Amino acid sequence: MITRRNFVKSIGLGSAAVLFSRDMSAADTPAKRPNIIYIMSDDHAAHAISAYGSRINQTPNIDRLAREGVRFDHCYAVNSICTPSRATIITGKYSHINGVPVFNKFDGSQPTVAKYMQAAGYHTGMFGKWHLGSDPTGFDKWTILPGQGVYHNPSFFGPEGQREISGYVTDIITDLSMEFIKSRPSDKPFFLMCHHKAPHRNWEPDEKHKSMFVDKHIPEPETLYDDYAGRTDALRENQQKVFDDLTRRDLKLEPPADLKGPERNKWLSVKPVEVEIEVNGQKKKITGNELNKWKYQRYQQDYLACIQSVDDNVGRLLDFLDKEGLKDNTIVIYTSDQGFFLGDHGMYDKRFMYEESIKMPFLVRWPGVAKAGAVQDALAINPDFAPTFMDAAGLSVPSDMQGRSLKPLMGGERPADWRKSFYYRYYHDPGDHNTRAHYGVRTETHKLIYFWKKDQWEMYDLQKDPEELKNICNDPARKEVVEKLKAELYRLKKEVKDDDQFADAQPPHSVDPIRPKPVKKSVEKK
Ligand code: CA
Repeated sequence: MITRRNFVKSIGLGSAAVLFSRDMSAADTPAKRPNIIYIMSDDHAAHAISAYGSRINQTPNIDRLAREGVRFDHCYAVNSICTPSRATIITGKYSHINGVPVFNKFDGSQPTVAKYMQAAGYHTGMFGKWHLGSDPTGFDKWTILPGQGVYHNPSFFGPEGQREISGYVTDIITDLSMEFIKSRPSDKPFFLMCHHKAPHRNWEPDEKHKSMFVDKHIPEPETLYDDYAGRTDALRENQQKVFDDLTRRDLKLEPPADLKGPERNKWLSVKPVEVEIEVNGQKKKITGNELNKWKYQRYQQDYLACIQSVDDNVGRLLDFLDKEGLKDNTIVIYTSDQGFFLGDHGMYDKRFMYEESIKMPFLVRWPGVAKAGAVQDALAINPDFAPTFMDAAGLSVPSDMQGRSLKPLMGGERPADWRKSFYYRYYHDPGDHNTRAHYGVRTETHKLIYFWKKDQWEMYDLQKDPEELKNICNDPARKEVVEKLKAELYRLKKEVKDDDQFADAQPPHSVDPIRPKPVKKSVEKK
């Protein structure tokens, strides 16, 4: 019997009280509570999903979730980078509250949604990319990649130690997830986090898809040649530019055979200004704009091919649910830890508060709750995910979680008191890719960004300028709007309790925890 006292005690919550929304014992209704499958890929931009109107690829299996469930068109990460987004998702809290503003180690002793679900009788599992620097807590079963992990024949860690599994990482993570479902206890609902590594840089596709886009012309985004006129220094200074910053490794150029070890690595890390390619059997050196265009194609060919495998595997998992008779009692979510620049504004990567970077795909099939084919325009944020899982499990949302359950939005309607703005903050400065720290507010119509270390502002009218090309912060005619947005920004900052805790002193980058020598090392055939 789970009593509330035992429940709270068992997960060490102290005063952060959590209450069942009704009296519930272990023998009560667990079988009726829905299973939850949370599928999250890494760096998969919504505009590379056909259900979101992609111009560059087709994702028929992910689209199935949009057809059979609801598509959120305005779901955002509040700190657009892998590790902080993951910490926010499992805690329901902003980075300055959960202690993970950058790539530092997550303190796994704090309450997480996995712990709440586990204590409430859910069978919990986590498979794939974790990337939080400490071992997962709150999971009955877990198998994670060390750090970023690798695409081919990856190593995995679990409570039992290390093992290597031969095959392609996206297939393997799906296999592990299906094994978890198959081996679950029959008297418990399950909560599964299936976290793909793909399509994270450096974009290594599987054999099946690696040639899929090679002979296709991938349309260039309209802002590929953005000259950053009128914007702050941050865009010009950043080093995540498709034309300037992709390395030979990213572009899959082949090093000379005689180069070994550090020399080979050095060669691969060069950002080439001239490349020799083969056209109709003839070798040809390209440079300048011709090279730039080639780099964009080369980048997207591999990025999109990685996504094709994610899409196949989403299909495999959905088919499996059908076969096992689990479809009607299982919530399935597809998302990514943030968005990604697909050459938009001339960039790859994320971090910035511009739309392509912060926007997360968010598709939910929730039988009996989500309306098939519904589209939701309301502003959703990644701190909402944990409260949504709690709500789905029939649990009250702890008062210290900062998000709000998305369940009332699943039919496509929006409650009258739903948020009309949200707060964003990116900390790393001068971080990877020299992306400068900033914070800001996005409303339903505008965005205000403050690069606080440089004291520079940007403002965009998202209705008139959805591509965020015209910084109107210094437009005298917009002065009143700027002032209103600044007031909203500081109101939100206070509401989410951001006291600049990590503005100057950021925790150090974490390394993966020191692990015991592998107790067994096996290579499994797939
Ligand atoms: Ca990511």
